[in-house]
Amino acid sequence: MNIDYFLEIYGHLPRAGPGSRECTKRAYDMMDGLPECPRILDLGCGPGAQTVDLLQISGGHVVALDFLPLMLERTKSKAEQANVAQKLEMLEQDMNQMRFAPASFDVVWSEGAIYNLGFERGLKTIRSIVRPGGFVAVSEVVWLKADPPARLVEFWRQYPEIASVTSKWEVISRLGYKSVGHFILPDRAWTAEYYDPMERLISEKQDPWSHIPEALKVLEEAKEEIAIFRKNSSYFGYAFFVMQRPLE
Ligand code: SAM
Repeated sequence: MNIDYFLEIYGHLPRAGPGSRECTKRAYDMMDGLPECPRILDLGCGPGAQTVDLLQISGGHVVALDFLPLMLERTKSKAEQANVAQKLEMLEQDMNQMRFAPASFDVVWSEGAIYNLGFERGLKTIRSIVRPGGFVAVSEVVWLKADPPARLVEFWRQYPEIASVTSKWEVISRLGYKSVGHFILPDRAWTAEYYDPMERLISEKQDPWSHIPEALKVLEEAKEEIAIFRKNSSYFGYAFFVMQRPLE
């Protein structure tokens, strides 16, 4: 895949994955007893939609981490427009290389990005950097029904950790977190700020890119991803999991 064409599409959407302010607030409100000004790590911040929401909702300090400069620039400018940039710190870093001191954060947040570390491996890493009594909130793809169609299983082979909500909770509990709760993102969290604008961008690019095979491939794959969602969204979705590192 040509990364430039990929970023021309995925790098210019309001969000780089499913989500909404409503979902961010719902997950944030599940965390009881946070300090007035919590220190939050937003892992894989992307274009920063949830980063700005977190800054506004929490009144805290957010460290936004991503390895793509384009994403950090977009996060910064969104925070400046919302007048919350003074509490934002940006870190251009591969999340595989994170070296935060133990118990650095009250909250570790990751919307649609923990899979880059691997769900289990990522939560294991995060457990040491969130303080005892602190919270972790991640959104992650899950099966919503047993026996999905073969075509869908084939599509999701690219992400072998896709599993039922129950299996995800088993992983979370095995890693020593306390369960706080979860909810499934509604379909509009996939469409309003993600797939609808992606479809508009695809149709804008179709003509100018019509003579560039690697660019057309990016468009075809994006169209396929959207079609799979529209046809099968009862079988899979994103779940927001909220958990707590127990006090020791
Ligand atoms: N949280 C954002 C959202 O929901 O809009 C972004 C989600 S997007 C699916 C995943 C983000 O993780 C991208 O911005 C990507 O650049 C970032 N990412 C992927 N692998 C990474 C890595 N190894 N280290 C840091 N960031 C990474």
